Order: sequence, then C-alpha cells, then structure tokens
Amino acid sequence: MSTPLIEIKDLYVKYGNIEALHGINFTVGEGEIVTLIGANGAGKSTTLMSIAQLPPPEAPKVIKGDILFKGQSILGMAPDKIVANLHMALVPEGRHIFGNLTVEENLKIATYARKEGMDEINRDYKRVYTLFPRLDERKKQRAESLSGGEQQMLALGRALMSGCKIIMLDEPSMGLAPLLMYDMFRALKELNEEGMTILLIEQNANLALKFAHRGYVIDTGEIVAEGPSDKLMEDPEVKKAYLGG
Ligand code: ATP
Repeated sequence: MSTPLIEIKDLYVKYGNIEALHGINFTVGEGEIVTLIGANGAGKSTTLMSIAQLPPPEAPKVIKGDILFKGQSILGMAPDKIVANLHMALVPEGRHIFGNLTVEENLKIATYARKEGMDEINRDYKRVYTLFPRLDERKKQRAESLSGGEQQMLALGRALMSGCKIIMLDEPSMGLAPLLMYDMFRALKELNEEGMTILLIEQNANLALKFAHRGYVIDTGEIVAEGPSDKLMEDPEVKKAYLGG
C-alpha cells in the first residue's frame, strides 16, 4: 500500500487532566473521503483539532503517539504552516467567520498566506462562487447577515480560498435545512471528484457513510469499528448504535 496522506498513530490526547483520546489509529489516503462517526462527546472534534494543532487554550494536548503527513511527523507544527505548507484546512463547527466583514472580505482574508500568483487565486474565487452562487449574490453583504447555511458555505469557501487540498470538516450538516445540506454535500462531492481529500466528522452517521468511501467509529475516545462505508452500514452493531436500527 502507498504511504497514506494522513496517518494517526496510537494517539493519546488530554484536556488538562482529562484524557479524551486513548490511542486511536487511522489513515486517510490521497483523494479519499473518510468519515469519523460517533456519539456526542466521543472525541471526533478533538481528533480534528489535534490534527490542525490549533493553539491553546482550544487545542487538546497530544501526550503520546504521532500524526504523520506523507510519512513525516507533523507534531508541533504551527497551525498556519499546516494550512500554508501542507494545504490542510479545518472548517470548524460553529464556523468562525468574521461577521462584521463582507462575504468577499472573508474570502480575501483566507488568501493572505498563499504563495501562488493572482491567476490561481482568481481561479479559486471563481470556483467558490460557482459552487455556491448564493455567496456570489451576497458578496457585498456582511457575513453576520447570512443565514446559518450560507455561513456554513462561506466557512467552506474560506477553506478553499486558503488553497487547501485536504479539507477537514466538523459537522458541516449542523443546523442546515435539507436543501442547503444537499447543496453542501453536492459541492463536497464535486470537490472530491476534482481531487480534494476529505476528512469529515458527522453526527448524522447515515449521511456521512453514504457520502464517504471509508469510515471509522469512535466511542469514548477509542476506534471501535472501521471499514468501507458500505460494509459499516451493514454491520449489525453499527446499525443498532448509530443508524437507527
Ligand atoms: P460533539 O459532537 O459533541 O462535538 P465529539 O465526538 O466531537 O462530540 P469532542 O468534542 O471531541 O467530542 O469531546 C471529546 C471529549 O473531550 C468529551 O468528553 C468532552 O467533554 C471533552 N472535551 C472536549 N473539549 C474539551 C475542553 N475544551 N476541555 C475539556 N474537555 C473537553
């Protein structure tokens, strides 16, 4: 097997004295869609935050294990280097957009660390506005005036404007009306077909497994099941615990 793009090896992390992940292992291959599913508090967001290595106080602290990118450890790498050099972007739950700036300004800020020329950046603006015509229509509007679903699109748009090739999404379906959810997942599918690697965490396990190639189930900080999505959807335990029987 070729070296995975991301490999999480025996990862233990803590918040203060509380251990939240107890030795998890998983991989994400180039061009794959991988999902982590699990109940509230299982450790899904903690896993993504560990990979993105957000600065304290938000970030959990890695106490054992490793995070590899193309076979090299990236533990301790600054979060801005993870975005700029490894092209990995996290779209966190709760969106973290700048409400008092316009849609256009929010997208522009995301490009600040890019090393490519304006041609690539302009191509990505076009891509974002084509994927999400609502953002195009509202580009002069302040972000705080957007609906929840539109803000979610803007959060994804910002990740794309950072020039990412790997996108980590924390609950992109959260609070979205069904039509917007459809738009969001259609956009993600298109991006994946163009080569984007996606690591998705979702409470809606049905949705996540239908969308992803492979999945891992996390339960209280441990991986308890893994496999191709269609196999996981057939697994009686997974069905009972996460897919509503
Ligand atoms: P949710 O869908 O509710 O976000 P999750 O699977 O993403 O669930 P995490 O948010 O990763 O779960 O939480 C994993 C564990 O770590 C939980 O027991 C949670 O209470 C704990 N935890 C999360 N954030 C912190 C923090 N900042 N300080 C202390 N404990 C935390």
